[in-house]
Amino acid sequence: MSQVEYMRRYRAKHRSLGLCVSCPRQAEPGKARCSKCRSRDNQTVIRLKLQRQQRGLCTWGGCGRRAINSYHCEEHAERVTQYTTDRQQLHQQLGLCIRCKSPALPDSLLCEVHREKSRIANRIRTNYQGGLKGGRPRKRVDLDKMRELAQCEGSSVRSIAAGLGISEETLRRNFGVELASFRQASKT
Ligand SMILES: [Zn+2]
Ligand SMILES: [Zn+2]
Ligand SMILES: [Zn+2]
Repeated sequence: MSQVEYMRRYRAKHRSLGLCVSCPRQAEPGKARCSKCRSRDNQTVIRLKLQRQQRGLCTWGGCGRRAINSYHCEEHAERVTQYTTDRQQLHQQLGLCIRCKSPALPDSLLCEVHREKSRIANRIRTNYQGGLKGGRPRKRVDLDKMRELAQCEGSSVRSIAAGLGISEETLRRNFGVELASFRQASKT
């Protein structure tokens, strides 16, 4: 029996017994290896990737060509994009969120969590760019400060508005989404 064949059988046998394929320990449920082997491998992979990234090389396993962006060479950057697009298309067909495996909301490509996240990200982007709202420049507000104020024990819309130097009405009307999400986050 060749070495390769031996290893293949060894792994298959361990796998069928629910044992780690790299050591004699019990494998994690549904995984090929135990938690120790998994975390050791993951750390090695992360360290290697980081080293490559710092040297400007492609981080794709076994590639090592010069990277064109901060992660991949031309070929692998394309493959990653292709993979992402394929996965998004598949999820879309199955009615799943394109960012995770949760069911997507009706009329949306995203699940509840991700739609909320992207909505906040958009609002924040517009806010930082001083986007126009209803033809008038939107008042700029320090969102970090808003978060801080919102997460203070016993804060109210009034105290937050006062802390930001805007009226309660402006706060509610223009920054309701951010405010709600900051206050929600402080409760959990
Ligand atoms: Zn193991
Ligand atoms: Zn590459
Ligand atoms: Zn999602």
